[in-house]
Amino acid sequence: MSKDKHPTQPGRRAFLKNGALVLTAASLNPSQLLHAEENAKRLRFGLVTDLHYADKPPGGSRHYRETLHKLEEASNQFQQDQPDFIVELGDLIDAASSVDVELNYLKTVNREFSAICKNRHYVLGNHCVDTLKKEEFLGEVGQEKSYYSFDRDGFHFVVLDSCFRSDGVPYARKNFQWTDANIPAAELEWLKADLNATDKQVIVFAHQRLDVNNNHGVKNNAAVRKILESSSKVLAVFQGHSHQNDLNEIGGIHYCTMVAMVEGSGTESNGYSIIDIEPNGTIHLNGFRNQKDYNWARQA
Ligand SMILES: [Zn+2]
Repeated sequence: MSKDKHPTQPGRRAFLKNGALVLTAASLNPSQLLHAEENAKRLRFGLVTDLHYADKPPGGSRHYRETLHKLEEASNQFQQDQPDFIVELGDLIDAASSVDVELNYLKTVNREFSAICKNRHYVLGNHCVDTLKKEEFLGEVGQEKSYYSFDRDGFHFVVLDSCFRSDGVPYARKNFQWTDANIPAAELEWLKADLNATDKQVIVFAHQRLDVNNNHGVKNNAAVRKILESSSKVLAVFQGHSHQNDLNEIGGIHYCTMVAMVEGSGTESNGYSIIDIEPNGTIHLNGFRNQKDYNWARQA
């Protein structure tokens, strides 16, 4: 990391817990040991949210055009830190007057985002499917599904889609109120079965919030939390949508809301993060610019 602000060295404990590696380390000098520790296996991913890219003048505190420059800074950091994958937590674009113009916003911002890393995950935000249909957004970014899961290095990751009205109709073409975010019955059933089927610790990615009951919350988030909690496998939920740093711990799960990239003018108002997970489930969130840092030890 070029930004030397890790409160602890990621990977150190994992490395020291491994008897074979400790034996090897005994024959290394201090600088070799440090290098070996840095290379010790731990999972790393990059996170950005609420980019709202659009080629239009600022609206209030949202500087749509500046997102490209801010994303370039995040990209440079990610090139150095080499995450295993990157996640975009929703609202990648902002509204345009037509479908074609909005697709062009998406092409422009995704050209830069997709250059960062070949393993990418896109969470749908309300602004992603305001004018566009879900299949149009997903088709453009090359992702098959709006909700799904994947495994990486001993951990299980779940991507949720809360862009459904309370009657179950998917968001598209301005057919919804942004405050009416829901996870429909079929997705809840899928989530329950998906968590049942894994023996790994789980991280969840969502756009709309699962931890609050105001306008930024998923309306049926109590039902979602119940499924997450009863699995006893979920370590943390990373979410966006309300554009501010926030953290709630509910039922032993960290609900961490990430700062929005679009907010404020100038590079100093940027926000993005690198997250390291040790094999024991300890999480280190290294936040840049306006994004807060967190360190959560896995409780036994
Ligand atoms: Zn947003």
